Amino acid sequence: MKLAILDRDGVINQDSDAFVKSPDEWIALPGSVEAIARLSRAGWRVVIASNQSGIARGLFSMDTLNAIHTKLRREVIHAGGMVDAIFICPHGPDDGCACRKPKPGMFLDIARRYDMPDLSGVPAVGDSLRDLQAAAMAGCNPWLVLTGNGQKTQNTGELPAGTRVADNLAAVVNTWLSEE
Ligand SMILES: [Mg+2]
Ligand SMILES: [Zn+2]
Repeated sequence: MKLAILDRDGVINQDSDAFVKSPDEWIALPGSVEAIARLSRAGWRVVIASNQSGIARGLFSMDTLNAIHTKLRREVIHAGGMVDAIFICPHGPDDGCACRKPKPGMFLDIARRYDMPDLSGVPAVGDSLRDLQAAAMAGCNPWLVLTGNGQKTQNTGELPAGTRVADNLAAVVNTWLSEE
């Protein structure tokens, strides 16, 4: 099975320091929805793993988050593809959960859901260091995009070993499909 794990904010849609709190505030980055659709049409399962501490912070409800994800899924379907699953961590930084990235909990849940003994060879795309750290810890191949926090993340010089870098999600997907 070809599986790809994507961060959401800053990879698929514009990130916001004020959090994405409503469907109207969820705005796709250029080419990202089409890239997901191309991947899914090529037989990949696309799964999103996203920290959403806005829930713990009381900035939006689970209902609103579901409405945001309905918009995301609709746009991908409109582009001719689909998102297989969306995993979220609703906790805050001080909750001590196992799922908030850089912890690998969501990735391990994904492996369990897809009945995979491990995630070796599975690529995971993020724009923040914690995405790459969680991916690496779970055995995925980390990919950094330079959208969202990506530039800042690249400048830290702390990328996990083997991290590959691309301009944006569309460029990542082009690379994957050309390497198949
Ligand atoms: Mg992000
Ligand atoms: Zn969590």
